[in-house]
Amino acid sequence: MSKLKVFNSLKDFIKYRDALPSAVSIGFVPTMGALHTGHASLLKKSAAENTITVLSIFVNPTQFNNTDDLQKYPRTWDTDLKIAEESGAQVVISPDYAEIYNDGYRYQLSENNFSKKLCGAYRDGHFNGVLTIVMKLLQIVNAQKAYFGKKDFQQFKLIEDMASAFFLRTSIVGCETIREIDGLAMSSRNMRLNEAGRKKAALIYKALTDFTDLSKAREFLTSNGIEVEYLEEHFNRRFIAVYIDGLRLIDNVEC
Ligand code: AMP
Repeated sequence: MSKLKVFNSLKDFIKYRDALPSAVSIGFVPTMGALHTGHASLLKKSAAENTITVLSIFVNPTQFNNTDDLQKYPRTWDTDLKIAEESGAQVVISPDYAEIYNDGYRYQLSENNFSKKLCGAYRDGHFNGVLTIVMKLLQIVNAQKAYFGKKDFQQFKLIEDMASAFFLRTSIVGCETIREIDGLAMSSRNMRLNEAGRKKAALIYKALTDFTDLSKAREFLTSNGIEVEYLEEHFNRRFIAVYIDGLRLIDNVEC
């Protein structure tokens, strides 16, 4: 029998949260589900550092600028609960849209510098959606620490800066990217690749690590049939977004 407490109602979760003794430390891992080893690493880190680990699973519509991508986003609820429990989570919250967007998305958080670059330059409104949902979730969970992957480094940085800008009490913890053996960064979207696409996807990490010259890296990918959206360096990191068979994948490494 699963020992996980699953809350679909935020009202019920808040009641549970407010009744926890103040000595209990909460670690929080927000996700969109379709959990893999990357998510598990965040949960395990949280479980090692806190009394209770709360996982949220919510496929956030406001951060999708493409309805097809939203509809096709993988949903693997039963496996997610299994991974959550095995990785040390005690609580799962999975709110519905109407409850968490009780304002109908009238209120939005935006950042007007770094969010306009990289993914923000190509995905209109994406980071407004991300920052808004993360702020809502951070307020709801009221954790001591919240864990984010550097796989989405731009997102991590924007959230870290948001927490500082709004004097949030939750510490934002960045976690290293977990990769497949061939270097491909783990992502829920990878399960949508076919065999040929999956082979091509390994070249993304190669392009990030094997070339000093960005234009040579780009040429390497395009000559292998990978469409490069951006390949840029900021803050001593190399960032990339590509399309493989219509599927958008991102990655970044220190450089
Ligand atoms: P997602 O469900 O894709 O929104 O991701 C939820 C959290 O897991 C985010 O903080 C991601 O950055 C993190 N994450 C996703 N993939 C990985 C990975 N391969 N390694 C480390 N963290 C990851």
